[in-house]
Amino acid sequence: MTETTAKTNLLGLDLKAMEAFFVAMGEKPYRAQQLLKWIHFNGVKDFSLMTNLSKDLRQKLTEVAEIALPEILLEKAASDGTYKWLLKMTDGNCIETVFIPEKTRGTLCISSQVGCILNCDFCSTGKQGFNRNLSTAEIISQLWIAVRTLSNNNGIHDHAVTNVVMMGMGEPLLNFDNVIPALNLMLDDNAYGLSKRRVTVSTAGVIPAMKQLRELSDVALAVSLHAPNDELRNEIVPLNKKYPIKELMDVCRTYFKDEPRRSITMEYVMLAGVNDTPLHAKQLINILQGVPAKMNLIPFNPFPHTTYQRSDSDTIQRFRDLLMKAGFNTTIRRTRGDDIDAACGQLVGSVKDRTRRKERYLRNAQTKDTQEGC
Ligand code: SAH
Repeated sequence: MTETTAKTNLLGLDLKAMEAFFVAMGEKPYRAQQLLKWIHFNGVKDFSLMTNLSKDLRQKLTEVAEIALPEILLEKAASDGTYKWLLKMTDGNCIETVFIPEKTRGTLCISSQVGCILNCDFCSTGKQGFNRNLSTAEIISQLWIAVRTLSNNNGIHDHAVTNVVMMGMGEPLLNFDNVIPALNLMLDDNAYGLSKRRVTVSTAGVIPAMKQLRELSDVALAVSLHAPNDELRNEIVPLNKKYPIKELMDVCRTYFKDEPRRSITMEYVMLAGVNDTPLHAKQLINILQGVPAKMNLIPFNPFPHTTYQRSDSDTIQRFRDLLMKAGFNTTIRRTRGDDIDAACGQLVGSVKDRTRRKERYLRNAQTKDTQEGC
């Protein structure tokens, strides 16, 4: 019987891992940079086209390695230019990736997990349940595919994607070991060469992993705050029961202590009558004292069976004014791509739910209304 060993997917190796791979093959470590450039900068998947490698090495690579990407199941453009990909992994799970073009930048919203374990009450990804972490290759493949799809046909890397936000499906800091090498690749000049200020990890507040992230990566940070007191946050972001607001704000206060000009983006989804009153704004201003924070107010995007509603624009405006008066730079996120369900919190992919949460959610919802299941 012949034994087959799985080929290494080079797509998921950052510089350090790629160097180790070549050294283990008896090759020089500088090959790693060449490979990163071929795979990520030039978008080449076929070893035989990598002309600055010897024929022997190309042959050897074909035998032990591969550059494997998920299958693009669906690509959709919204009327406002927002673009969404549905990507199928080899195990049949699907994830979603979204590109949001703006005048001066293009932002790619990347998923880190199939589904999400956190179950925030206003997020439809959470309602799909959870299956598994994405591998580094699966995370970075979203950027690989977006860059290739969006660049013009002559194959030139034209930087349509200038920003990456880890705000798709999943909690990136609960998939720490796979997210870090993906971040390294995003920043690596041989790969995507994005600026550290233009790559953002968004977290619901996994405190120990936030501290580790600061040690290992220089990327920007966004925190999904959404409520100004523990009672409400426990309800809408259940992770708060483990990592309450005071501890979270303590970490945020010192996160960029060595770089006083950097700040943390605080995301705050505007839910009508739930977290959007002047009293909530006052509480928010209190908890944010001493935190280098900019506020990003996100009008709630509805999804099937949710009982939440979006705050009206006057209410959002008033909330913003109160925060601004207290000295917090505050922006209101423009809702993009909602005609193709590509807006924040609408990414669902197709999760083979192992938590059976979706089943429970739909059962509960059906007792409240009679809509078809999603
Ligand atoms: N788990 C990470 C990243 C995924 S969520 C985190 O919690 O930050 C990315 C952002 O989308 C979060 O700020 C989240 O609050 C927001 N979001 C989720 N559902 C939403 C909805 N229905 N409408 C508007 N924004 C939503």
